[in-house]
Amino acid sequence: MKSPKAGFVNTPIYKGSTALYKTVDQMEKCLADPLKKTFPAYGRFGSPNVRELEEEITRLESGYASVCTNSGLSAITTSIHAFVSSGDHILVVETAYKPTRNFCDSLSRFGVETEYYSPLLKGTELRKLIRENTRLVYLESPGSNTFEVQDVPSLVHVCVQLDVVTIMDNTWATPLLFNPLKVGVDICIHSATKYISGHSDSILGVVVCNESTYARVRAEAIALGQCGSSDDAYTALRGLKTLPIRLREHENRAIELCRWLQKQPLVQNLIYPGLSDHPQHEIWKRDYRGANGVFSFRFVPSVSRECAIQFLESLSRFALGHSWGGVESLIVPVEFSSTGHLVRVHAGLEPLEDLIADLAAGFRLMDIRKPTTPRKVELDAEILHPT
Ligand SMILES: *Cc1c(COP(=O)(O)O)cnc(C)c1O
Repeated sequence: MKSPKAGFVNTPIYKGSTALYKTVDQMEKCLADPLKKTFPAYGRFGSPNVRELEEEITRLESGYASVCTNSGLSAITTSIHAFVSSGDHILVVETAYKPTRNFCDSLSRFGVETEYYSPLLKGTELRKLIRENTRLVYLESPGSNTFEVQDVPSLVHVCVQLDVVTIMDNTWATPLLFNPLKVGVDICIHSATKYISGHSDSILGVVVCNESTYARVRAEAIALGQCGSSDDAYTALRGLKTLPIRLREHENRAIELCRWLQKQPLVQNLIYPGLSDHPQHEIWKRDYRGANGVFSFRFVPSVSRECAIQFLESLSRFALGHSWGGVESLIVPVEFSSTGHLVRVHAGLEPLEDLIADLAAGFRLMDIRKPTTPRKVELDAEILHPT
């Protein structure tokens, strides 16, 4: 829909609960419209800013229509909730975002059984897990923190044949690097909180649907009282304007940081789909148009937990904080393990030299015993871009 901009470049932020009708007939038509497409409606059904964002993301994802929700997580929970009933079974990738898993686990209270499957499964193996009562298959690729890349086309092929709904969390890719609906996924989810908004200043989710799932997702969002705010839709729309340029720069910094970290004696390995030694690098190269600024690395096992913490807390450019996709670099411990502590990094947009200098100072500070066995120096893994 076109909104009045009074000659300015951007749509103004519409703040509102009550929208006024001219006639009772208009009011009744609006109330009777299950998809709330007609305006004016009530604020909870979406403002002009929210509609503009929904239409823009739909266009970028080649979807049918989208539904905005108040967070990435609520986009996920609303979509799953829309399709399950008591007695159903759902298949969820085990490397999904942890709060997604928490929600799926909670569904057992309503008689919905969640089964987790490996991100490495191919379609033929997934087919064996699909039961008579399997209502949906949930995908997230690459996996949160560990970045396993799923063979989405192969999995979706089976689901389409068996008429099982597929939902994919596509936050990592943004609409620029991969479009799930183009390979047959029914519903694609974005936490617009991350790269789409891009400045760590809003929380927002978007569900992009195909024609056969849209009405159900919209009805569920309305039933649950889900809606995004105009302010957050505005920041997401503004973020979209610079997303291609920001994403490229986040990716460039991540690649350079990976190259540098690979040479550090206290780093055991890097996990980033763009590295040629990533186990699913070929799948990623086939399906994705690029990578982003998030990666993980594992310390060598001789680095103690205290030492790893000392490293994390010593950094000044990399702030200790959750989420990613903003301008500032972030770092978080993912897992403390005897086989090497795992850390996730978000490469922000600061000068690369500053980021490397910060990490170098952190490594110098680390008060550790030298690794007992000298580590063989591996060849710098080649980093490849799909074209
Ligand atoms: C952050 C994140 C979410 C949740 O998004 P919020 O907007 O913080 O609720 C969901 N999925 C993935 C992959 C994420 O990284």
